[in-house]
Amino acid sequence: LKLKYYEEMDKRKKLHNIVQETKGNIRVFCRCRPLSKDEVSLGQKCVVDFDGSSDGDIVIANGGTTKKSFKFDRVFTPNDDQDIVYADASPLVTSVLDGYNVCIFAYGQTGTGKTFTMEGTESNRGVNYRTLEELFNIAEERKESVTYDLSVSVLEVYNEQIRDLLATSPSKKLEIKPNSEGQNHVPGLVEAKIENINEVWKVLQTGSNARAVGSNNVNEHSSRSHCMLCIMVRAKNLLTGECTSSKLWLVDLAGSERLAKTDVQGERLKEAQNINRSLSALGDVISSLATKSSHIPYRNSKLTHLLQDSLGGDSKALMFVQISPSDNDVSETLSSLNFASRVRRIELGPAKKQV
Ligand code: ADP
Repeated sequence: LKLKYYEEMDKRKKLHNIVQETKGNIRVFCRCRPLSKDEVSLGQKCVVDFDGSSDGDIVIANGGTTKKSFKFDRVFTPNDDQDIVYADASPLVTSVLDGYNVCIFAYGQTGTGKTFTMEGTESNRGVNYRTLEELFNIAEERKESVTYDLSVSVLEVYNEQIRDLLATSPSKKLEIKPNSEGQNHVPGLVEAKIENINEVWKVLQTGSNARAVGSNNVNEHSSRSHCMLCIMVRAKNLLTGECTSSKLWLVDLAGSERLAKTDVQGERLKEAQNINRSLSALGDVISSLATKSSHIPYRNSKLTHLLQDSLGGDSKALMFVQISPSDNDVSETLSSLNFASRVRRIELGPAKKQV
């Protein structure tokens, strides 16, 4: 049994090293959605050239006026399905079982497929469900050598307020506090224990449905809030007696688009400012990590404060930059790809932890 366990750990360690070899600790995967029927009927054209996609290259060529190349760790074309996307994220995701804190976030303009990638649909499930399913299955396989407690919280950050999406009654104001191990947590947040894989989709749907409550327009509301799933893993190694706890954040960020000037007033202005502030706070945290600054401004937004333990140090991060293929969206597409390229240049330092 011991031998089998160590063999497996060895295999996983090698896999981590492969994942680790890609430059820096923040990997960036770019995913482009297909042109929609409406876009096609409006005569919009695809401006994305995928010729180099198998090497992580993507070119935005807008009729010769703009031609810009970007390189990422992986480029997914509109033909790449949820299986292919998850397969590449999987080694990183499962490293949470080996004691790493992990963070995966989907960034991009509204309508580019952030929710499709993270949440997916019942028949075409995304990263969130697949992650829980795989963690659960590995936990089952390993149960004779390690016991894992898996639990999940689903929350939303809207206008700098945290809302518990699994709470059955409206919760009082939720704040971020350090726990006894010095990790951030949110006292009072519901933690749903995952004991049975059949419950997982239901729990995720409960969270997703709760986003709509109290908003007039579900799509608009979702595009202006960050939806955050936190998977807590408490492991006890039965062979060594060692206990570890780690967490994995799966984040569907608010839309990164800039507002049309005519839209900027009242409630929309407040929302836009909050989104801008938190997405720039994310950018600032990432740049401070890159320059190895002694002060990392995690506290400048709820989003970065929540992600603090999973962004930086020996944690592992993956960003999906989601883009539209349409010529109508070129300027937002370039802005997202520029941001993602900066993120990809970040090196966070070596990862060490091992159960
Ligand atoms: P966002 O969360 O970024 O606002 P959505 O996930 O809601 O975007 O996606 C917008 C629309 O595009 C949805 O109808 C979604 O089903 C569709 N879509 C996004 N990505 C893909 C994809 N890779 N393949 C097929 N349809 C997609």
